[in-house]
Amino acid sequence: MGGTKTDRAYIRRAIEAADLNAVRLALYQNTGDPDLARLPPAAQLDDGQREWLIEQAISWLEENAGPRSLPEPPEAELRQLMNLATGEEMGDLEFEARREQAAFRKYPFLVDWDGEAPRIPDGFEVAIIGSGFSGIVMAVQCELLGVPYYVLERQAEFGGTWNINRYPDVRVDTISSTYELSFEKSYRWSEYFARGEEVRSYLDHVARKFGVRDNTRFSHDLKRATFDEDRDLWRLEVDTPDGPQTLEAKIVVSATGLFANPKRIELEGDDAFEGRIVHPARWPEDLSLEGKRVAIIGNGSTGIQMVGKIAEDAEQTYVFQRTPQWIMPREKYGLPVEPEVHWLMDNFPGYWNWSRYMAGAPLFDTHALVTTDRDWQAEGGKVNPGSDALRKDLTEYIKKETGGRQDLIDRLVPDYAPFSRRPVVDNGWYRALTRDDVELVTDPIARLTETGIETADGTVREVDVIVTATGFEVVKYLHPARFMGRGGTDIHEAWEAADGPRAWIGMMVPRFPNFFMLYGPNSQPVSSGPSQATWFTVWSAFIGRCLKRMLTEGASRIEVTQSAYDSYNEALDEEATKLVMMTREGGIEKNYYVNNEHGRVQVNAPWYGPVFQRMFSEVDWDALELTAKREDAARS
Ligand code: NAP
Repeated sequence: MGGTKTDRAYIRRAIEAADLNAVRLALYQNTGDPDLARLPPAAQLDDGQREWLIEQAISWLEENAGPRSLPEPPEAELRQLMNLATGEEMGDLEFEARREQAAFRKYPFLVDWDGEAPRIPDGFEVAIIGSGFSGIVMAVQCELLGVPYYVLERQAEFGGTWNINRYPDVRVDTISSTYELSFEKSYRWSEYFARGEEVRSYLDHVARKFGVRDNTRFSHDLKRATFDEDRDLWRLEVDTPDGPQTLEAKIVVSATGLFANPKRIELEGDDAFEGRIVHPARWPEDLSLEGKRVAIIGNGSTGIQMVGKIAEDAEQTYVFQRTPQWIMPREKYGLPVEPEVHWLMDNFPGYWNWSRYMAGAPLFDTHALVTTDRDWQAEGGKVNPGSDALRKDLTEYIKKETGGRQDLIDRLVPDYAPFSRRPVVDNGWYRALTRDDVELVTDPIARLTETGIETADGTVREVDVIVTATGFEVVKYLHPARFMGRGGTDIHEAWEAADGPRAWIGMMVPRFPNFFMLYGPNSQPVSSGPSQATWFTVWSAFIGRCLKRMLTEGASRIEVTQSAYDSYNEALDEEATKLVMMTREGGIEKNYYVNNEHGRVQVNAPWYGPVFQRMFSEVDWDALELTAKREDAARS
């Protein structure tokens, strides 16, 4: 047992701080003890069962702890373990969607060659635009297939949205392990909810370890991409530190994300305002709020996250709220991961895998929360039983956190359903509102004066700094780069001529051959799936499948057919009518998930998560046209 801790008290501390479900599953996988399988999930353990489980784990670890990983169990055993994890028998669809989630294989979800790789023709190269999470995953997918690629990143570092967002207390708001890429095992997160800086170093670490760094060109800003129909490739006009350059690539994958373009608001009088106005995604390095009077406009995930920290530093904080949010608590938010738990990750074979699986499990069954139950509504319910129960719990939470302050409660409880917008996580926001030096302002903003903000009731609050946490221009997919497809079609003009950005399965658009979007229109799963990091992997694997097919068939173009694109979008619109967010109960008119101009869901894929996931793992090849270049076809 060289190098491991054997002290029972230390191991006990580790197990008590650990995810007991993951402890049970790892122990069962290691021992096969049937008594472990008979235990209920951790939340239902009585005191005796809990203590028995802890004792079993301590005794086993005393003898067996060590830095080993476990192989993927055979399918039937894996399925049994996954059923034990949540205490429910899952169907085949769910099993297929989640089977890689415990990440036993080296590259879960991603695709490799089944046999020998075909020769990769000269010039077959992928250009990936953006080096946030999705760009890095796509690059790793190319590495795995041995397909040449390069990444263009307009910033000077990896990280995408995690690079540009450096506002006070920026951090992840789902547990750090849900941000783990499944091919980089057992990362040592220092906190249960990692800070932005740590997410950036994580991405930098992954990029270096998997070879992506060497293929990334920083400070390279794509301006325009044009498909060359004669040569079946993309010409990319790029601003670089050495001036404009034109590059070529057979395939382009846009990984520029949803949150690249800050949404700025125009307020009457903003030219005259003598203080500073900052957007969180452009937080000035030199900005100290110590002793300042600060206004925060916007209470989405960003605005909410920063208020606690700002209130600590500022002399006076004003929180301007236009629409109240449903804000949820998170266990272990702000806490460090205990060294004992790190030890467990390293020395309890299988524990990391199952803790990763369990971290994603709360997302498995959220579909019911986002869809309306018409029978329930006919009986007087608001949305559906789960949604209504959650609304009640969160209302109680608001009452508790504000210390029962009715003046706040009246303005903080939303009149729409939870989960119809992106859930927001409480970072001490409600508590901050109860401080003497914090004021919640709900009167609409009328204008800025030279020194402050005037609300519609005529009150002026003097401020030094205004933070406009007003979100991002999510509807401007791909912006500001221009994409010109076949026949000179401009993608933005084509979208605008119809009803805003659309794609087939969020990724492909007719007339734009060899072009894929990660996190394109309607691709954020509305519910019931693995974590976002996993979705990036699932999407990249789809592109990997397309690359494999092109290479094995000698195709030089791949393009979605117009009819597949049309029928997919028709089905999507129909499915979206079931979503709470598209009803009055969902507060439809103010929600960045919805394209208000065209009155339809813009950001989300409305499908039940495992159904959406299957669209990427079981490619509908009938929807795609693969063609060889004329002279290639003539030669073969
Ligand atoms: P957001 O959710 O779009 O919120 C924008 C806020 O600004 C809303 O409160 C909105 O009010 C307000 N607003 C917009 N225009 C306004 C105007 N003209 N006047 C007054 N108020 C205005 O943006 P976000 O908070 O930046 O979050 C965007 C997404 O980033 C999140 O949904 C999440 O996916 C991601 N994010 C993640 C994390 C994390 O994981 N830790 C942290 C931050 C952000 P209305 O509600 O009235 O429109």
